[in-house]
Amino acid sequence: MGSAKTAKHIFVTGGVTSSLGKGIISASLGKLLQARGLSVTIQKFDPYINIDPGTLNPYEHGECYVTDDGAETDLDLGHYERFLSITTSQANNVTTGRIYHNVITKERRGDYLGKTVQVIPHITDEIKNNFFKLDESGEYDIIITEIGGCVGDIESLPFIEAVRQAKLDLSPNDFLSIHLTLIPYLHAAKELKTKPTQHSVKQLLEAGIQPDILVCRTELPLPIEIRKKLALFCNVQLNCVIEAIDAESIYDVPLHMRKEKLADRVLSKLKLPKTEPDLTKWKEFLGRLKNPVEEVEIGLVGKYVELPDAYKSIVESFTHAGAENECKVNIRWISSEDITPANVGDSLHGLHGVLVAPGFGERGIQGKIEAIRHLRENEIPFLGICLGLQCAVTEFARNVLNMPKASSTEIDPNTPHPVIDLMNEQKTITDKGGTMRLGAYPCTLTKGSKLYAIYGKMHISERHRHRYEFNNQYLAEFENAGMIAAGINMDLNLVEIFELKSHPWFISVQFHPELKSTVLNPHPLFIRFIEAALKFRKVSFKKEAINL
Ligand code: GLN
Repeated sequence: MGSAKTAKHIFVTGGVTSSLGKGIISASLGKLLQARGLSVTIQKFDPYINIDPGTLNPYEHGECYVTDDGAETDLDLGHYERFLSITTSQANNVTTGRIYHNVITKERRGDYLGKTVQVIPHITDEIKNNFFKLDESGEYDIIITEIGGCVGDIESLPFIEAVRQAKLDLSPNDFLSIHLTLIPYLHAAKELKTKPTQHSVKQLLEAGIQPDILVCRTELPLPIEIRKKLALFCNVQLNCVIEAIDAESIYDVPLHMRKEKLADRVLSKLKLPKTEPDLTKWKEFLGRLKNPVEEVEIGLVGKYVELPDAYKSIVESFTHAGAENECKVNIRWISSEDITPANVGDSLHGLHGVLVAPGFGERGIQGKIEAIRHLRENEIPFLGICLGLQCAVTEFARNVLNMPKASSTEIDPNTPHPVIDLMNEQKTITDKGGTMRLGAYPCTLTKGSKLYAIYGKMHISERHRHRYEFNNQYLAEFENAGMIAAGINMDLNLVEIFELKSHPWFISVQFHPELKSTVLNPHPLFIRFIEAALKFRKVSFKKEAINL
């Protein structure tokens, strides 16, 4: 641990059960500290063996969040970026797999020559190196480290041990341990129960860590007797028992935590001056979010509709863009596999805009294409993302350009019209992990296009995660028929955006705009998509009135 550490480190562990919202609590604490002028970042350490979540399917792990530098990361990094308007990187998400990979690479290189390589100290040293990596820049006042999983899990042990050791590497005012736990309410007994938390803290103590602050997830307010009991049995100060009651929106959590004085406790324990946070903009956002003047119905066509976490960033982008338009966005989840030519009109009936989601593989493709055809022919606002663009291109080739067998070679390797195809560089790659076109790429917008007006500038940068691309052989045909390439990657000569000239709002993008929408900087594409949906709604109201 050679290099000087200048940041203060807060470690967030979880107990009793998973899914307590460590990511949201960490992001909320980060927000409250940032709102006091501190420079904050958040990192997540995940105890599974995969090198990154890039190879995990959404059923296992929800959305895979991609950073500017092309890291495929845990969806909690999305919360960190959306709450704090920071950019994260590969260094902000480290798994057991990566730690072991690094250690084994060093061992093969001969770095440990003569030594037996062991969990302690080699694995724990590698974990600590990574805990402190973001500290090397000297850029941060505070680094929050979220440890994935639960205390007591076998696979979490080396991380918890590394946290114990990290405390010794840091001066006492630079280390803080927060434990997030659950206080269940037993309906039959009509009681909140502290025992699971006592056990969880006991497990942490066995590992040598005394939590400084307990954040308690609960359905009901914590009465003072419960707080006292928790303080006594878990050996924390009474004012360090923080209630985290179920919130209406994740964006309320920073204000709940403010009420509970979580950041004040943190500041006083880390011997930092207590100042007032400036949450004006955040509160303005919440004001708009909670007092919408209008409402739209947006369809989300995808194949994981029973699993909203798979489209987390898209859903959050709608929340941001809705608030910006003072409009409530109701999302109707539509399974692409259920859409047929016969029922597409009914499935999409009453929607004011439809987003066709990213995805991989053949399942649900026909339904997506059918939906896009309906949106194109009926002038309903459409936003296609990644696979959504590829389906829009396929639909246009099949139904407008008279190529009924047109396809992406991902779906039909033998198609006579491969309108979407692999780039040559991708053709020789056999590994799956980390081999797509990943991360931020520049894009130049076409002057006079809708996209240019939406972004209000010519040069943009957006994040990617895909293997297949539009096949430029077909570009002239597409443009002649009114499907315009509105954004191009000049370095790679790739079409990144298509818009349909004759349609009020038919836009598809090869990148993922949803990865860059934040509470304080909602993404312009989503803002304008909601705006278009609102317009469509008004026009359809008028049409209905005329028909009556
Ligand atoms: N499966 C497509 C590709 O790999 C699209 C990926 C996506 O939608 N993220 O190019």
